[in-house]
Amino acid sequence: MCIFCSIAKKEIPSHTIYEDDQVLAFLDINPTTVGHTLVIPKEHCDSFLDCPPALRDHVFEVAQQLAKKLETTLHCDGIHLLSNMHEAAGQSVHHFHVHLIPRYKDDQEIVAFHETPNVDFEDLKEKLQ
Ligand code: AMP
Ligand code: ZN
Repeated sequence: MCIFCSIAKKEIPSHTIYEDDQVLAFLDINPTTVGHTLVIPKEHCDSFLDCPPALRDHVFEVAQQLAKKLETTLHCDGIHLLSNMHEAAGQSVHHFHVHLIPRYKDDQEIVAFHETPNVDFEDLKEKLQ
């Protein structure tokens, strides 16, 4: 069974900060910054890509509430909201989760991307429209 399913079933402990019948939020065990939180559906889906719409919406609803709470409680200056899909994007746990990563003015830079690729904007726009 996947590790986040085990956390959702309380077979593995977590620092849970929010729970309802469909969603769980807990502190990341290897935080990027203080307050780094993960929001997951209790029901397993591999990533954002295959999460049923109503459940997906509820995960983001909870993420929004918790982002506000991180701001008011931890007084962070900004927050990243991100969800990695597939290994190429850095997904290491294959159970849909949303990261909330608080940012503080005095933090060191977190560099995610270094080089800007050459892009054919017209071609891309046509493909994605
Ligand atoms: P990702 O790389 O986007 O799949 O993120 C997975 C995240 O899960 C990482 O930030 C890990 O630190 C975190 N993580 C893995 N195992 C646990 C755990 N048992 N409790 C809390 N966070 C975990
Ligand atoms: Zn799972």
